[in-house]
Amino acid sequence: MQLTKYNDQPALDLAGLGVGPFNLSIAALLDSKPEINASFFDAKKQFSWHPGLMLPGAHMQTSCLKDMVTAVQPTSRWSFLSYLVEKGRFYQFLSTEKLVISRHEFVDYMSWVAAGLESLQFDSEIREVSFDGEHFVLRSANNELTRANNICLGTGKVPHLPSCARPYISDNCFHASELAARPVNLEGKRVAIVGGGQTGAEVFLNALRQKWGTATEISWVSRRSNFEPLDESPFTNELFTPEYVDQFLTLPADRRETIVRRQKLASDGITPLYLQELYRELYDRKYLFDDQTTRWELLPDRTLTGMDKQSNQMLDLRLENALSGGDERLQADVVILCTGFEHKLPQYLEPLMPELELDDSGRFTLSPEFRVQWNGPAENRIYAVNAGMHSHGIAEPQLSLAAWRSAVIINDMAGREVFNLPQQESLIRWK
Ligand SMILES: Cc1cc2nc3c(=O)[nH]c(=O)nc-3n(C[C@H](O)[C@H](O)[C@H](O)COP(=O)(O)OP(=O)(O)OC[C@H]3O[C@@H](n4cnc5c(N)ncnc54)[C@H](O)[C@@H]3O)c2cc1C
Repeated sequence: MQLTKYNDQPALDLAGLGVGPFNLSIAALLDSKPEINASFFDAKKQFSWHPGLMLPGAHMQTSCLKDMVTAVQPTSRWSFLSYLVEKGRFYQFLSTEKLVISRHEFVDYMSWVAAGLESLQFDSEIREVSFDGEHFVLRSANNELTRANNICLGTGKVPHLPSCARPYISDNCFHASELAARPVNLEGKRVAIVGGGQTGAEVFLNALRQKWGTATEISWVSRRSNFEPLDESPFTNELFTPEYVDQFLTLPADRRETIVRRQKLASDGITPLYLQELYRELYDRKYLFDDQTTRWELLPDRTLTGMDKQSNQMLDLRLENALSGGDERLQADVVILCTGFEHKLPQYLEPLMPELELDDSGRFTLSPEFRVQWNGPAENRIYAVNAGMHSHGIAEPQLSLAAWRSAVIINDMAGREVFNLPQQESLIRWK
C-alpha cells in the first residue's frame, strides 16, 4: 500500500486541474507573474489535444490569434507569433496568408507553450479534491497531496454517447474521440458514421479516402436537417466578444437557454471550406470517376433511436426520418459515433459535492468571474472553465475568449487588476 504524503511545497495560490487549452492559457499568462504561485496537473504523460481527432486535413475553426495569451497580453513570450518567430518560419507563415491554421500546427504551438512552462505537471491524475477547513487538498493517483488556496477545474468534457449505443461500445462501435486508441480497420466493412458536425464530416471524408482501409459502404447519418455550415460571418463573430458575454450574463436563465440553442451554428457546424471540399470530392467520385470501390450515402434528418446486435456481430441501427416521418433500418459492421461531448461533474469532486451550489439541471452555478458558487469560505475559490455555456453563452466552450477568461479569473483570484482588460466597443447595440 502506498502511503499518502504531502508534498513539501507551501500551499499554492492556485492549483489547476487538467491542462487542456483553457488551463494552459491561465498557466501561460501566469508565467509572467511569479508572485502568484500556481501549479497545473494533468493525467496525460505529455501535452496533447484531442489526439483521436487529429485527422489529416483537420483545421481550426478559430483564428490563430485567438491563442493562449494574445488577446490579453500580446507581448507575451507564449503568443502564436512568438512561436512562429522562434520556430523560424514567421515570413513563410505570412506568405500563406492564412489565419485559420491546421489543428496539427495549433497543437504544435500549444505543445511548445506547455514545454516551456515550469508550472505544469503531467502524469499527475487528480483522484480527489477535499477541503481541510483552510485549503483545498488535491490527492493524485500516486497519493501525493497538494494544498491550494484556490482551484481551477479544467478537466474538459466527456464523450457523449447516445443511450441506445452504450450497451454495444466495443472495437466495432465507439466514440470518434477513441479513433487513436482503438484498432480501427474498415477494410471490407459497412460503416455507419453518426453525427453531422465537423467531426462527422472529417471522419466521413477520411473513411472515404481509405485512411482505415477500404470500406464497402459508408453511411453518414445526421440528426440535423442537412449538412450545415458553421456561421463564420463577421456579425456572428461579435457573439465571441467579452462585451457580448457581459450582456448575456444579465439575461434571465430561461432566455439564455433559448438563445444558446438559437445560436448553435455560430459554434457548432461544418466549416464552409471543408463542406466545399467534401462536396467537390463527392461530385468527382459520382459523376467523373464512377468510383465503385466504396458505396456511400448521406442521410440527414435521421435520429438514431435504437440499436441491436445480430448473432453475426452486425449492428442494426434504427433511424427516425424527420422529413418523411418514417422509421428506417441501417446495417453496419462498424459504427463511429461523432456525437460530441457533454459536461459531467467530475468524480474527483465527490468530497466537495455537498457544498457545491448546482442549478436544477445539476450544473455549476457560476459567477461572472467563473467562480463556482459553494458554501465554503469566500476566500477559497473554485473556478471552472468550459463549464458555463448556460451562464456565459456559446463562447464558453470555444478558444475565442480563452485568454480573456483566464485574465478575468486571475484578476478575481488576486483581488486586483493583474491584467488590464480595457472595454472594447462593439459595433452592435445588443440590449
Ligand atoms: C476535435 C475538436 C476540435 C476543436 N476545435 C476547436 C477550434 O478550432 N476552435 C475552438 O475555439 N474550439 C475548438 N474545440 C472546442 C474546445 O476548444 C476544445 O474542446 C478544448 O479542448 C477545450 O479545452 P479544455 O481545456 O476545457 O479541455 P480538454 O482539452 O478536454 O482538456 C482537459 C484535460 O484534463 C485532463 N484531465 C481530465 N481529468 C483529469 C484528472 N482527473 N486529473 C488530471 N487531469 C485530468 C485531460 O487529460 C485533458 O488534458 C474543439 C473541440 C474538439 C473536440
